[in-house]
Amino acid sequence: MNIASNTDVLIVGAGPTGLMLACQLAIHKISFRIIDKTKDHTAQSRALVIQARSLEILDQMGIVEKAIQQGKIAKAIGAFFNGRKVLRVTVNKMGTGLTQFPYLLMLEQSHTESILVEFLNDHNRHVDRQTELKSFINNDNGVSAILKLPDGKEETIAAKYLVGADGTDSMVREQLKIPFGGKTYEQSLFVLDCKAKVDIPDDEMYLAFSDNAFGGFFPLTNRRWRILGNIPRELEGKEDITFEDIESRYAERTRMKVKLYDPQWISAYHAHHRYASTFKKQRCFLAGDSAHIHSPVGAQGMNTGLQDAYNLAWKLSLVIKGKAKASLLDTYTEERITIARNLVRSTDRVFNVVTSQRQFIKIFRLYIIPVVLKFVAPLFEKLKFIQRLAFKMISETGINYRNKMLSQNASLGRFPRHAPKPGDRLPFIQYSGEKSETKNIQEKTQGKFFCLFLFSQTVHKEIIVLLEPFKDLFSIELIPFTQQTKILYNKFGISDSGCYLIRPDMYVAYRAAKLDAEHLKKYLLQFLETENILL
Ligand SMILES: Cc1cc2nc3c(=O)[nH]c(=O)nc-3n(C[C@H](O)[C@H](O)[C@H](O)COP(=O)(O)OP(=O)(O)OC[C@H]3O[C@@H](n4cnc5c(N)ncnc54)[C@H](O)[C@@H]3O)c2cc1C
Repeated sequence: MNIASNTDVLIVGAGPTGLMLACQLAIHKISFRIIDKTKDHTAQSRALVIQARSLEILDQMGIVEKAIQQGKIAKAIGAFFNGRKVLRVTVNKMGTGLTQFPYLLMLEQSHTESILVEFLNDHNRHVDRQTELKSFINNDNGVSAILKLPDGKEETIAAKYLVGADGTDSMVREQLKIPFGGKTYEQSLFVLDCKAKVDIPDDEMYLAFSDNAFGGFFPLTNRRWRILGNIPRELEGKEDITFEDIESRYAERTRMKVKLYDPQWISAYHAHHRYASTFKKQRCFLAGDSAHIHSPVGAQGMNTGLQDAYNLAWKLSLVIKGKAKASLLDTYTEERITIARNLVRSTDRVFNVVTSQRQFIKIFRLYIIPVVLKFVAPLFEKLKFIQRLAFKMISETGINYRNKMLSQNASLGRFPRHAPKPGDRLPFIQYSGEKSETKNIQEKTQGKFFCLFLFSQTVHKEIIVLLEPFKDLFSIELIPFTQQTKILYNKFGISDSGCYLIRPDMYVAYRAAKLDAEHLKKYLLQFLETENILL
């Protein structure tokens, strides 16, 4: 029997990206279905690090404590060269002053997924497991998809939008015929979860380089280790790489004093660096690994997928509720494809240096880099601005959407250079509350959709009238000038009065150095449905 149903959004894939999108749509009270062909979420450790920007998102959702409790803060990262520890830098406070979470949180993907699944279940929403997307038709008005259900029956589902969060081999991307340009690296790699006797603290992460191999040691939360490395040349092309294949020569190849035992799983793979030419086609979107993949360098893969979902969810929700023009959805590709492109390029450069077998790169890696690192590491520990620069890049807190469509004509008046610009992430700024308690400006946006920071002694009447039709979307946060808020006026570059409009994904949408409802209205008209604007 063919069952027919409909929904606003069909999410294909319940990996971290699909789950985050579902959680966000649940928050925005949008009707959706999320399906996955597997029986349960992954039990494998896979992505090991949650970056600060992702933790900020979990904080907005009220579930960051769970992640912190289940994970472990990385104390240091470092490198061995031919068995000699050459680099160890402390990273557990690297981003101090930049975010509430100034570190790298080690948390296995299996835990991250179960935290998201729990959130979804708490909102009375569930993943339809063992349900597979078989085919779909996409046009300007919607999507019609055929699903294979757990009992083998088929269901035809009509959706306003479809999101392919279906991973690297995305059938959504394939069926939409969206090119996935880039390359697959020649060098094959393995990842292994096992126990290990190795002289590395269980809250530090290391890479190991030798003449003919590279390896990696990443502690997991259950006293096990993620070990990685390149597959020995003599095993290239072997169908099933076993633990024994790797274990027998791993210590010798990496020149590390290590004994691997009790394997849980091992997987051999070729890393790729590719991204889709667009993340949107008519009513369909790509997000996460279906849109971009790159080498594991920098632990960015899963985190980038989470942020794709965070970017897309509020836009979908506004359009589905009829509050915004459909063109708002085009800004998803525009904003996220630049991030993917930069990520693919930068991880590719580092990955080549780490793995290349070309003679001059090997010499550079083994003999020049250690000397440079020896000189640079103490500076890194001392010079806060270098740490902050590195942290902004790795933690994804430095990502911005400056000069994109939503950030155009979004600034009125003069601001000092240090003030956040349209497209910037709302910075982490601490100030004192009325009872001298430490507050953080990002908290003001919690549980809100758009948030207007009004730097003024009173709320401007014209602003209230302008936003009246969107009462459910816009919250006004009045910030009068006091001794406590002086720091906010300073950091936001406001000399007298002004405002900042913060997007639901915590980026600056708009700023004005004087209160001018007419200018704000013009900005909002670029993407909001005009009939709702009264002024
Ligand atoms: C062995 C391994 C180790 C990794 N290690 C790291 C790491 O150390 N650091 C890091 O950052 N990243 C790592 N990754 C990558 C990381 O796991 C991905 O970046 C992340 O999972 C991407 O999430 P996603 O939700 O976009 O896609 P996925 O997690 O791939 O989820 C896609 C989901 O879609 C489902 N699906 C696919 N097709 C269909 C269909 N037709 N119908 C229904 N469901 C479908 C799949 O079952 C799957 O559950 C690793 C990946 C692997 C495989």
